[in-house]
Amino acid sequence: CGIFAYLSYYCDKDRKYVVDTLLNGLARLEYRGYDSAGIAIDGDTDKEVLIYKQVGKVAALRKHIYEEEKEFDFVYHSQVGMAHTRWATHGQPSSINSHPQRSDPSNQFTIIHNGIVTNYKEIKTFLSNKGFVFESDTDTEVVAKLVKYIYDTQRDKNLKFHDLVKAACKELEGASAFIFKSTHYPGEIVVYRRGSPLLLGIKTEKTLSADFLDVEFSNEIETPDDPNSEFKIPSYAKRAQNQMFTSESGEQSVEYFFSSDPSAIVEHTRRVLYLEEDDIAHISSTGNLQIHRLRREDGMSSIRSIKTL
Ligand code: GLU
Repeated sequence: CGIFAYLSYYCDKDRKYVVDTLLNGLARLEYRGYDSAGIAIDGDTDKEVLIYKQVGKVAALRKHIYEEEKEFDFVYHSQVGMAHTRWATHGQPSSINSHPQRSDPSNQFTIIHNGIVTNYKEIKTFLSNKGFVFESDTDTEVVAKLVKYIYDTQRDKNLKFHDLVKAACKELEGASAFIFKSTHYPGEIVVYRRGSPLLLGIKTEKTLSADFLDVEFSNEIETPDDPNSEFKIPSYAKRAQNQMFTSESGEQSVEYFFSSDPSAIVEHTRRVLYLEEDDIAHISSTGNLQIHRLRREDGMSSIRSIKTL
């Protein structure tokens, strides 16, 4: 129902700041109505992901987290967290059905999801036959497990995180927006949208040009430079990339906010990109943004990265 993610790179934020930012983001989405809420944050090492979920209001989730979580003063060079308020479509409101959903008990792949995967039953049957054991009744869990299945079976290919998400999302039907996090890709987030809104807020010290600022809160559609390319690269994304990341050494301090609704972003920044249909956005462990566009009719074609011009 409502999704929100917060990413900080080289900003010296501690985990408490991350948790509070996530919870405050969720609280801004409360007006949409929901039955349960949850977050996933980095653990004490970057190979660990912690999940907290609670039926009911964000206040109840906040209480639950603060009761369980004793040590909040970890500071990492990067922090990647995501949060969800659920309006149950598949599976009753319960802690186990709340998001984030996960691939396995060690939380290798965690995801949050708005919308419905209409063909989840077929995927669930396929994965069950491969030995996956499901813990929830949600359509969402099949996507977390599908990503893990692809990761496990194509491990030798050293796939990038967005390649995995692409391979999984190609199999999905229905209108959805997803955020993916993984212990195999610490400091990274990949998001995908099709039929459900998702926007990206960007906060950085670096001055952005008027050209970039022009796209604030607009949803302009531009023709890709190369209409025959396997993946359309939205020109707004190329422009953003060019403005932000031309001469940096890799240690830019930058914060990102993904949300299904601008109301959770405006208190942080007014610089936003509305993701377009079939966009896959990938933030790297050093805070670089790439946006790819999945074109399903191309079948197995590969994703191209946006380059700095
Ligand atoms: N279909 C998913 C579920 O039932 C997501 C629902 C939502 O958008 O909150 O868990």
